[in-house]
Amino acid sequence: MFKQGRTIMNKDDFSCDALVIGTGLGASSFTYGLAKRGKDVVVIEQGDYFRPPSPDLAPLHNFNFANLAIVGGLSKSYGAAMYRLRERDFQPIEMERGPTPGWPISYADLEPFYGEAERLFKVHGSSEHEIAEPPRSTPWPYPPIEHQGPAADLVRRLREKAGMSVSYVPLGKDYDPANGGACVLCRHCDGYWCPRDAKMDAEVAALRPAVATGRVRVMTHTECLRILTSPDGRRATGALLRRDGREFTVHASIVGLGCGLRGTPILLYRSRTSAQPNGLGNGGGALGRYWSAHTAGWVFAMSPFVQRQKFHQKTFAMNGWYEHSSDWPYPTGIVQSACYIEPTGISRRFRYFAQAILAHSLHTFVMNEAVSSRETGFALSDNEAKTIAPPLENVKSFARLRRLTIQMYRAAGYPAISPPLKPTSYHSTGTARMGRDPNTSVCDERCQVHDVAGLHVVDSTVLPSSGCLNSGLTVAANALRAAALA
Ligand SMILES: Cc1cc2nc3c(=O)[nH]c(=O)nc-3n(C[C@H](O)[C@H](O)[C@H](O)COP(=O)(O)OP(=O)(O)OC[C@H]3O[C@@H](n4cnc5c(N)ncnc54)[C@H](O)[C@@H]3O)c2cc1C
Ligand code: SF4
Repeated sequence: MFKQGRTIMNKDDFSCDALVIGTGLGASSFTYGLAKRGKDVVVIEQGDYFRPPSPDLAPLHNFNFANLAIVGGLSKSYGAAMYRLRERDFQPIEMERGPTPGWPISYADLEPFYGEAERLFKVHGSSEHEIAEPPRSTPWPYPPIEHQGPAADLVRRLREKAGMSVSYVPLGKDYDPANGGACVLCRHCDGYWCPRDAKMDAEVAALRPAVATGRVRVMTHTECLRILTSPDGRRATGALLRRDGREFTVHASIVGLGCGLRGTPILLYRSRTSAQPNGLGNGGGALGRYWSAHTAGWVFAMSPFVQRQKFHQKTFAMNGWYEHSSDWPYPTGIVQSACYIEPTGISRRFRYFAQAILAHSLHTFVMNEAVSSRETGFALSDNEAKTIAPPLENVKSFARLRRLTIQMYRAAGYPAISPPLKPTSYHSTGTARMGRDPNTSVCDERCQVHDVAGLHVVDSTVLPSSGCLNSGLTVAANALRAAALA
């Protein structure tokens, strides 16, 4: 059926203005941006709409969510903390393990799209008590969600006794008790699917409004096998897809790629042509490399029986150590509240201990940036991305962050525990990053793959670095920007 540079029509083939591959935060926001500009868009997703076996608030990790292909992608289980990066994050920053790369665009280039993404994702936030808040041209679309019950006590004591600046976590939720918002501020959100559709994930916040324009068709259970290009390999012409065992072609002059950390580089590699024999955008060998992320760990502020109250914790954050300080030459990191964590996936040996900690504490995580290098990332094959090296952890800065957080909670009157678990990587970016130099990047500053007109990478992989705050709003804003430039 398929020969490089040439497609043979079959009866399932069709054409549209734009084809978008994937339905995560980036792909769905790109789709919304295109539909708003009058384009007819086909969106394909290899998975299906998420249907839990019971209508309870089902934790997605019970469904092996690392391998779960669903409409909305990872955002179906995200915590909906929707932050703008800081202005400095767009420039190189000196870190313990080397400098961050700097972006080919500035905060000012993204600023209008941050505002649009905040409105789309119904972000509730405030600049009050926030350190190094970047300038904004539009107000927060919704007021912040107030700290609840024991979290409000903790915030007050952190301010009064520990002298900390405690801010609101900007949250993308349909929360509006006076006017019938669907969010009831239950104790779960991170790691969970919301049965009320109140969490502003990619499907609810961006894909559904896009479909409502009447210009968007979503095809689930449809896998992209490869991107198709013109015979000279210099222009995207559509993609070869497979659904129900049948292969067919969708022709489009705009192709948006949003398949996530591994999926996007695999697809660009698999779509190689004689013009780009190492993969599309991979002339300089940057594809699948320059993986950056966040190092994250837990700190529990102990308070006996506090979780009997079943309150919503995820409203407060402390970003005062975001930048370097007089006594530490590098950024230290941030502290952010989490929703209630269930003691799942913990070995029998530690389960009782873990249950006791979780029941008698407020749960927070600490996070700082893990930087990329040429070696961080994946060795690509047609179907696999094998880890070469993970992002480089700024270990001393992270240890300092844990220590300062424990001291801060103690000063506020809460004994604190930070279990010596191996830190994990959150909020990955970079494996198809944008940049000016094709030797060290895959896309240009418009998110268009180098030397392939019409092909745009629109997900988290195009961000050159992760900054030190949750990257979801930046993914969405950048995808809206890519749609405006496509
Ligand atoms: C538990 C958890 C909590 C989080 N909390 C937050 C938070 O509070 N704030 C925040 O900012 N971020 C958070 N994140 C991170 C955030 O969810 C991700 O950074 C973001 O959702 C990534 O979006 P993406 O557009 O890169 O694509 P993904 O979500 O990775 O989606 C990719 C999609 O492409 C599809 N796909 C892949 N290959 C193909 C193919 N060949 N053909 C067709 N379809 C394909 C996949 O099925 C998937 O649906 C969290 C993540 C997790 C897991
Ligand atoms: S906190 Fe709100 S949005 Fe999150 S899962 Fe609960 S009801 Fe849904």
